[in-house]
Amino acid sequence: MTSLSGLLHLPETLQLIGLGLIGALIGSFLNVVIHRLPIMIDRGSGEDGDAGEDDRYDLALPASACPSCGHRLRPWENVPLLSYLVLLGRCSACAAPIGWRYPVVEAASAAAGPLLTWHFGLTAQGLTATVFVWFAIAIAAIDLRHMLIPDLLSLPLLWLGLLASTQNIFVTSSVAIIGAVAGYLAFLMLSRVGARLTGHPVMGAGDAKLLGAIGAWIGWSHLPQVAVIASVLGSIVGLALVFSGNRHRSQPVPFGPFLLIGGVAALLWGGTLGAMFGLRG
Ligand SMILES: [Zn+2]
Repeated sequence: MTSLSGLLHLPETLQLIGLGLIGALIGSFLNVVIHRLPIMIDRGSGEDGDAGEDDRYDLALPASACPSCGHRLRPWENVPLLSYLVLLGRCSACAAPIGWRYPVVEAASAAAGPLLTWHFGLTAQGLTATVFVWFAIAIAAIDLRHMLIPDLLSLPLLWLGLLASTQNIFVTSSVAIIGAVAGYLAFLMLSRVGARLTGHPVMGAGDAKLLGAIGAWIGWSHLPQVAVIASVLGSIVGLALVFSGNRHRSQPVPFGPFLLIGGVAALLWGGTLGAMFGLRG
């Protein structure tokens, strides 16, 4: 793996700060995606044809506003993380609380680049893993709120994984392609069997596409690890929610976040985990 730091000739601290700032801006955009993409899907992605500029609703328009009072955010109220702190988590016009999701998504997106650079070095692996985590944050947040994994996120994640494999960044292309197909098909079969056993749908098609995308990044040989990590975590959280009275037994738990945690773990420690599970790294 060639280091990219030589190309930039910047001190390492500056590079990390730069990555963090870019991440915070990306996080701010991810908040827009998380809020608006499900609404856009719900509205049939605006294919009415005659929707005027006033009704336009996409990732760019209308400008960000307070969901409670409609107050248009001024530029200084739209600075990632800082605005939340300065406004003390409340709208400047109506004082309605701003969801904690906003600063959490921005902080996580800002932290992803520096943390992954610390793990991988300033390499193609570190930078592409950062992009993976940005996608993961948006997909997990939408799945948690809406039990929905938009194709508009899972399919580009699949393509990026396949493109990365052409440069052998994590795995070779043949391992990635088999991973994508195996991830999708394995999940589809599991969900069929699960639905047959429990009598109600356990996992959605969105989860299958997501596992296909993860398979393109980590390769087929690490898919069993992702499945084990995701099912163990999913069961623990699901049971905890049932016992704490926050969820009914038949109510499904969004599975995407657990698949993504498994995917990130496989990207970071694939070889080590493989040895633990007795699989080849
Ligand atoms: Zn307001």
